[in-house]
Amino acid sequence: MASPSKPTPAKTTPAKAAPAKKGGAKGTPAKASSGGSPELVKHPIFDELGFQTDPNNLYRQTVSSMLAAADIMNLPHHLKIILAQPKNEIMVNFPVLMDDGEYRLFKGYRVQHNNALGPYKGGLRFHHDVHLDDVKSLAFLMTMKCSLVGVPFGGGKGGIKVDPYKHSKGEMERIVRRFTAAIAHQIGPDYDIPAPDVGSNAQHMAWIADTYSFLSEVGGHQPEAVITGKPVAYGGSLGREKATGQGVVDTLVEMLPEIGIDIKGCKFSVLGFGNVGSWTGRILQDRGAKMIAVMDHTGAIQNDAGIDAHALALHCQKTGGVAGFKGAGRIDKDEFYQTKVDVFVPAALEQMITEGEARMLNCKVVAEGANAPTTPAGERVLEARGIEVLPAILCNAGGVTVSYFEWVQNKTCQQWDLERVDRELNKHMVQAAKRVRDARKKYKCNLRTAAYAAALERLQAVYSVRSLFP
Ligand code: GLU
Repeated sequence: MASPSKPTPAKTTPAKAAPAKKGGAKGTPAKASSGGSPELVKHPIFDELGFQTDPNNLYRQTVSSMLAAADIMNLPHHLKIILAQPKNEIMVNFPVLMDDGEYRLFKGYRVQHNNALGPYKGGLRFHHDVHLDDVKSLAFLMTMKCSLVGVPFGGGKGGIKVDPYKHSKGEMERIVRRFTAAIAHQIGPDYDIPAPDVGSNAQHMAWIADTYSFLSEVGGHQPEAVITGKPVAYGGSLGREKATGQGVVDTLVEMLPEIGIDIKGCKFSVLGFGNVGSWTGRILQDRGAKMIAVMDHTGAIQNDAGIDAHALALHCQKTGGVAGFKGAGRIDKDEFYQTKVDVFVPAALEQMITEGEARMLNCKVVAEGANAPTTPAGERVLEARGIEVLPAILCNAGGVTVSYFEWVQNKTCQQWDLERVDRELNKHMVQAAKRVRDARKKYKCNLRTAAYAAALERLQAVYSVRSLFP
């Protein structure tokens, strides 16, 4: 498969000239590098558990938001320490034959954060710059997300350190199948159920399901339920591909009225135009909203009269990015962030909205389509500026919710129609939004802390009846 060009931010103003820390996956710009060195987020639990002391450490930053909620709701100490670390951290190294006849060694991960509410659940990221702490953060977020949105799963996440766009289809198939073999005894339809994430897709899920079925001895018991996000022809669910974007839109429909924004005619911008960004753009446009600006790893574009999200999605499928799209003009990175919109949707990688971006944003609401896109320092700036943040564990929970429906369909040998999938998804999203609003009232806090508090309440309830073994 052709490799998209390296991130080429259009023009970069002097203030943003520092090279990006990490290259973005297809559809996602490189992680932000501006904002200076943030302060180290502190909590006694970090010292007790010997957390990394790098202020940029994603895991420390992510867990700090949960601990803020745990503190205001007086969560017992033992639950804080249990939830601050994953149960299992699995790392595998495996050799794969390349097309040139040489073997290359790859590194893969599966982190199983918590299974108090059900089997571990979460995606597999295929990215050249994925590290254990990233995977730990994402697994932790899955525990919180599943709890908040009311699906009977715990949290997990995995990945392979690989750039999927730099390998032929044959190489990718061998990499994915060999990785599956390396972790096959650690996953299972009732134990740990992976899914797609950044850089992985339905074809990869099909190879994983097929390899697992081949290796496992559970023939006849729906071994394909070991993974979700599969092609519809092989046990996938209708509506799964667009599910995360659909969930972002369902959340906005639920939350915007109280912020005084009408979705019809509302203006929005999107950072990252991969699966989440492009589906959010298309569905929002179909609901009468107008996409004004988009930025991905190939550059940034803007059109005040509106960018056709459907046409842009087709353009990206053909060319690999938003650059060169005829229906909009090119702008630079700073202009993108400064574009006046009602809603800004970060739908790329983690830690992209640091202090610098937060100061530039010209919006009323940030709807987090990506996992952990806002750093604690970025969040403080947004809060001080009165910008409402719809937190990722609520906003992007549509993907895992429809994964749950896929798993149920596999287990019960059913195929739901799209209308049923969308209706059930909407129920979960509306319920979760309500729980977040209720928690905000109860604890008098911002929406992120409220979302964590609502997720923690459910975890606390299950621990209080299960208690701890032995
Ligand atoms: N990777 C997606 C997420 O971060 C989906 C996970 C799943 O479907 O299990 O929510």
